[in-house]
Amino acid sequence: MTASVPPVESKGLVLVVEDDRAIADLVCLYLRREGFGTSVETTGAGALDAVRRLRPVAVVLDIGLPGSDGIEVCRSMRAGGDWTPVLFVTARDDEVDRVLGLELGADDYVTKPFSPRELVARVRTVLRRAGGAPGGEVLTVGRTRLDLGQRRVWTDDAEVSLTSTEFELLAHLMRRPGQVFERSQLLSAVWGYSAAAGTRTVDVHIAQLRGKLGSASPIRTVRGVGYSADASC
Ligand code: CA
Repeated sequence: MTASVPPVESKGLVLVVEDDRAIADLVCLYLRREGFGTSVETTGAGALDAVRRLRPVAVVLDIGLPGSDGIEVCRSMRAGGDWTPVLFVTARDDEVDRVLGLELGADDYVTKPFSPRELVARVRTVLRRAGGAPGGEVLTVGRTRLDLGQRRVWTDDAEVSLTSTEFELLAHLMRRPGQVFERSQLLSAVWGYSAAAGTRTVDVHIAQLRGKLGSASPIRTVRGVGYSADASC
């Protein structure tokens, strides 16, 4: 990790993409009060780079940006296999129509002017949905299939019973196949607290997951780094 990466707060990092600095500052203030870490980008290109670099738990994405707009940013993320939850910020009714016409994942929107409190509540909603409300998104890596909406997992055709935490951990890995996550990143994303709580927790749950998934487990250990979900396992 480079020095430019902001510290991961207890509930994980939210990327705020907004070219109006005053709005961005206000949104960040309220998110931090709720225990989220924050980072700001003011352009679409910067946002795409930051999503890859910082791996936020959610993105607050203004549609009206200079250059590529928020919808194009979200499309690029999805096209690249990135299903990080997005909360759109819209300024006009026609933008609302465009957002509603999208099927880009576990998304929601707020319309300007919004109350910061409402925005934070919506961030929580998209995070909860991404954890598995109806949506029907199914992830497949190798022989393992995971239905985010139904919160069910199968290896080959046999259903595997997982605890809620095991499910979240596997879902987090399978959302970005091949991407290696450090233990501290998994702790922050799945348990919602920072590395101080003990990365051993992650190892224990990975071991349990492997035990349940058996030879079909897509989880790969990357020595000295962490874990990934990999079809070649
Ligand atoms: Ca704007």
